[in-house]
Amino acid sequence: MEQRPSGAKIQAIRGTRDILPPDSSRWLWLEEKCRGVLTRFGYSEIRTPIFEYTELFNKGTGETTEIVQKQMYTFVDRGGRSVTLRPEGTPSVARALIEHGLLRGSKVMKLYYFGPMFRHDRPQAGRYRQFDQLGAELIGAPGPEGDAESVHLHVSLLRALGLRQFAVKVNSVGCPECRPAYSGIIREALKDRVGQLCEDCVERLQKNPLRILDCKVEGCRRIAASVPRISGSLCSDCSRHFEKLKTLLESIGIEFEEDPGLVRGLDYYTRAAFEIHHGRLGAQSALGGGGRYDNLIALYGGVPTPAVGFAAGLDRILLAVEEEGVTIPIDTGVDAYVVAVGEATRDKCFSIAAWLREDLKVELDLGRRSLQSQMKTAGSAGARFAIIVGEDEMASGVLTVKDMTTGQQEKVPEVDVSGYLKRMLGK
Ligand code: AMP
Repeated sequence: MEQRPSGAKIQAIRGTRDILPPDSSRWLWLEEKCRGVLTRFGYSEIRTPIFEYTELFNKGTGETTEIVQKQMYTFVDRGGRSVTLRPEGTPSVARALIEHGLLRGSKVMKLYYFGPMFRHDRPQAGRYRQFDQLGAELIGAPGPEGDAESVHLHVSLLRALGLRQFAVKVNSVGCPECRPAYSGIIREALKDRVGQLCEDCVERLQKNPLRILDCKVEGCRRIAASVPRISGSLCSDCSRHFEKLKTLLESIGIEFEEDPGLVRGLDYYTRAAFEIHHGRLGAQSALGGGGRYDNLIALYGGVPTPAVGFAAGLDRILLAVEEEGVTIPIDTGVDAYVVAVGEATRDKCFSIAAWLREDLKVELDLGRRSLQSQMKTAGSAGARFAIIVGEDEMASGVLTVKDMTTGQQEKVPEVDVSGYLKRMLGK
């Protein structure tokens, strides 16, 4: 077990990061933009806990997946129950819908979430152990319009952030009707090449052969390319569904590429699977991915309900935003800085700032600094106005308001200052 050297300075855990200002305002911008798009698509926010009973992921995400086998932060809590920091959001959403009795008849529901996910993977650029996802789940929509809308939503989110250099990949992973036959075809095609597969793929060949198509090991990739494509094995319903999805995407001008190797890492997908990759992110290029999961809710004991959704990685989206040179409008400016001339006026400045802050962005000196350095700070904070409060101003109730861009000064009665500033700032 890895131990932290005793006596060493405590640092953030490997694979986790602090997001400091002004970088944190990029995150706010991202969330705000995304919430706008999600609202236009009719989605409401759901917030679920960041830890759940381990069996939720074992069962839903799947025992044979990389996430469950190798990446979960699982521990026994003080009550002796095995709990896990969520590695993904969809199982929690499905659990919450069942737990709160929200699945009724053919009602369509649209839910989104933002939040941290946890996976114990090898950290590298664009891959962290704690990272943030935005997920969007469309519940109760059985047809390909649901899949198409989900892809469209993901694309719209990226476009709203100013991104252009991404590519959409789609595939169908079949359903419990047709997938077993295709699994048999993979086993048959690879039966003489087992020795050339990586250790994980040898196991996958027994438990979940489709996942061999997704293996990142170069040798396995070459072998996987020789396997017949799933498109030839889809049942007629899956095939029709997939064809319709593609037609719908074309009808709204979404370009995509069909990728037969796209099977996604999770067990619960049925039919459509999709991913969006960015051209300039190197090895970790997936911005997001998702697909249909018609059997997940039933697997948890809920009323069988079709569903489709995706999760997008916000850390990587911000890297892509940087790569494409998108300008993020960040308002760091201050409307007014209240400047104390001498110690005796500090309390007055404190109360002026307090009431001006009901409408305006106002700063004042909390560092007990000299008049000169207060004026300097007002300038470097980008304050449009300085409100100068000396003993004369205190006695007369008329304040000096200095326009920091023109250098001009005005005498403004204290009671009128808020109105004056709002007029001048166009607020
Ligand atoms: P997944 O459901 O695993 O495909 O994850 C959806 C998206 O989350 C991916 O396309 C990535 O953008 C992001 N993501 C997944 N794992 C990580 C990670 N370890 N670090 C950063 N982002 C990640």
